[in-house]
Amino acid sequence: MGEQDVQELRAGHWERLEEALKHRLNPQKYGTWVRQMACLKDDDEVLVIGLPSAFSLDWVQNHYRHVLEEELAKIAPGVELELELVSKRPTAAGDEVLPIPEPVESEPHEIIPDAASVAGPRVARPDPVPANGYGSSISRAPHPSRGPAPAASLVLNEKYTFETFVTGPSNQLAAAAAQSMADNPDSPYNPLFVFGQVGLGKTHLIQAIGHRVRARSPDARVRYQTTEQFVNDVIQGIRFERMDEIREVYRDCDLLIIDDIQFIAGKEACQAEFFHTFNALHGAKKQVVVTSDKLPHEIKDLEERIKSRFQWGLIVDLQPPELETRVAIVKKKADTEGIELPDDVAMFIAQSVRSNVRELEGCLIRVSAFASLASQPLSIEMAKTVLKDVLPQRSQLTCDHIVKLTAKHFDVKVQDLKSTKRGRAIALPRQISMYLCRKHVGASYPEIGNALGGKDHTTALNAYNRITERRETEPEVRGHVEALERALLD
Ligand code: ADP
Ligand code: MG
Repeated sequence: MGEQDVQELRAGHWERLEEALKHRLNPQKYGTWVRQMACLKDDDEVLVIGLPSAFSLDWVQNHYRHVLEEELAKIAPGVELELELVSKRPTAAGDEVLPIPEPVESEPHEIIPDAASVAGPRVARPDPVPANGYGSSISRAPHPSRGPAPAASLVLNEKYTFETFVTGPSNQLAAAAAQSMADNPDSPYNPLFVFGQVGLGKTHLIQAIGHRVRARSPDARVRYQTTEQFVNDVIQGIRFERMDEIREVYRDCDLLIIDDIQFIAGKEACQAEFFHTFNALHGAKKQVVVTSDKLPHEIKDLEERIKSRFQWGLIVDLQPPELETRVAIVKKKADTEGIELPDDVAMFIAQSVRSNVRELEGCLIRVSAFASLASQPLSIEMAKTVLKDVLPQRSQLTCDHIVKLTAKHFDVKVQDLKSTKRGRAIALPRQISMYLCRKHVGASYPEIGNALGGKDHTTALNAYNRITERRETEPEVRGHVEALERALLD
């Protein structure tokens, strides 16, 4: 065989493979994936195919490698041709192969609060998101004409499992629903909508589902994404006319987890995309989990059709944990971090922070960091000193204090608020005091019920919802609430 013949043979595998893929894959898949491929080397030992980003490399490895191998075996029967996929592509100028930047490594969601929250656990921060908005397996390699590739699934925080999630009355239902979904691919709780205020464990719980599903069936495709990333992907998809690719990526999973869906409010194109993605997944009996800091009907500028989809499955809430649960959380956290925590210090921290588990953890970390820097054992005195400046004022507020203040503001008696008396003159102040206990003390509904003379927790829940609504729509109610809030924060 002359050199010319060898050259032709060398050039031939890739062209024939491309041709075969054109017949085997549908035009959309061919256009999306095969068009991105570049032949970097083609001889009788190896065929090297370059892909423009770490993301597309990953995708092709996982979804199309077997197709490529099968077609290659047909094209070159009997030849032991090795297939190598790399994330490189030749420059436009010639044959030179330029490495594209390595994927940006990002930390999984941090469990330990950062310096800002350690310094002041009052600050309620949203979940940490990698600076570039993308997870660790994504390459942000520029692709001038097509924009960045859609985000790969974020890495799940290895600490966010069911085993590390402490349950109590405040979160039992949500945890049970999450476990049921994770253990059962045909769970009727689909979609699962988890809502609760910031720092109460939404992200932890939904990532626990992801971990469990992966442990149960290692082949399951789990995609965990923040809404921010989803929005980003859709915007890029529209801008660079690559919605097909985005759609394929989002629909090709067994479990789609979208965190903080409330951020989709007002973004019409993203809502439409989410709606169709949801339908495609649900129709194919795939599972969908979302979190939000509000109930579906409370999310303003969210399409009705999406709200109604959320009603199809199960809506569960996470409430601020009760004292006992808070103590258990602090102790568990101390255990996992190897912190020796005396019982009275655990109790002190749990009593000090009521309505946000992230803040609770922040206090523990701060106290333990101080103890270790001072080379002293943790003690209650030390905890009091260290947390003196950072504990939110509101932690000193109690339900009793609020009830008294409300009674004074409306010029009614405290025992009337605690009684079963009805009538507007008492009912409105009572409801407002419940609302304020929830909002400013972070007390659980059963705690609020108790503080108001042993009312049922559903009464407290209704009062909270009712005043939240009336505050928006009735200036008179807003006036009372704001006057009381000013007095509380004085
Ligand atoms: P959210 O997403 O609701 O804002 P996260 O899931 O980020 O809250 O939780 C904040 C922190 O509190 C995380 O470190 C999480 O592990 C911890 N946390 C929340 N609830 C619990 C719980 N029930 N048991 C153990 N840790 C919890
Ligand atoms: Mg979160």
